[in-house]
Amino acid sequence: MDNYNQNQLYAVDIIIMLIDDQAIVGELVQRMLAKHNDINFHYCHDPKKAIQDIENLHPTVIFLDLFMPSINGIELLKTLRKNPSSSDIPIIMLSTEDDAATKCEAFENGANDYLVKLPEPVELVARLRYHSQSYIHKLQRDKVFVALQKTQTELEKQNMALLRLSQMDGMTDIANRRYFDETILVELRRAQRNRQFLSVIMIDVDHFKIYNDTYGHLQGDDCLKIVATILKNQKKRAADLVARYGGEEFALLLPDTNLEGAIHLAENIRNAIEEEQIPHKNSLTANYVTISVGVFSCLPNINDTPETLLKQADILLYEAKKSGRNQVKFSYRKEDEA
Ligand code: GH3
Ligand code: MG
Ligand code: MG
Repeated sequence: MDNYNQNQLYAVDIIIMLIDDQAIVGELVQRMLAKHNDINFHYCHDPKKAIQDIENLHPTVIFLDLFMPSINGIELLKTLRKNPSSSDIPIIMLSTEDDAATKCEAFENGANDYLVKLPEPVELVARLRYHSQSYIHKLQRDKVFVALQKTQTELEKQNMALLRLSQMDGMTDIANRRYFDETILVELRRAQRNRQFLSVIMIDVDHFKIYNDTYGHLQGDDCLKIVATILKNQKKRAADLVARYGGEEFALLLPDTNLEGAIHLAENIRNAIEEEQIPHKNSLTANYVTISVGVFSCLPNINDTPETLLKQADILLYEAKKSGRNQVKFSYRKEDEA
């Protein structure tokens, strides 16, 4: 079907092409079809031009003479079957031979039908209509199938985009809380199963209420976007997840990461925010934006839930606040502790 002009495929008209070197056969067949207005007849007297004519006319059925002086009908049949533009067009062999061996050879090489020259008009018309219609139906099915596949691919793409959107925080363009909650559950189970470390980091922007009061809520939004971008850029592993946990709070989930690794990342993040030097003139901690961080790490045991881990990180975050803000507090739980 590759070489076809798509618009041609769905013409309901029957287009027949007769390939026969004898002009008289061409004339006779044309006469037989004269009163059938829905049948377009084309006569190809030179078998060497057959492929060219097929590509131009897109016949719905081909009548092919078996014995022609310039080329053997079976050889042409094989060539047509190999050519993409004619490989599935119905081919009816026309021959003066009525023996089983000749018919057998024709069918073995891809003929769809076999008529002994010259059949009664009623038989010729009935056969060409039958083969043409089944070919037209096949083309229509192919088109519907292609359209369906396209729609399916499009739908899958849209579903993926929707799913992604439902997992993202619209303002900061990082994962949202819902996605974080889903993921921590999966990662906790994995860590329990594989006996791997799991670390969580909770981050809260210091004196952010004052920031809003000083610079306005819109600039507050911009500040949160910068913080989110820094978090995103600092995390190095594909499995790490950075999420907006709510308001001016962020959470990181670090699968297969021990306390040392988690502290390292937390310090990098705290430093990077500090280095950004986002002005915060009324902050009680510094004259730029700072964050407080709680890091908790453990080899999760059977009783752990996302809440138990997050609660620990939250307690540590609170300690960081109490101890003067702009700092990282951490702890871990040994394997055998409850
Ligand atoms: P602390 O150092 O103890 O964390 O003080 P804080 O002022 O940061 O904490 P508090 O919880 O009192 O205030 C948080 C502020 O963050 C108040 C709220 O209006 C602001 N906030 C939360 N979400 C957003 C947001 O999406 N955009 C903006 N601009 N502000 C937000
Ligand atoms: Mg807060
Ligand atoms: Mg805060």
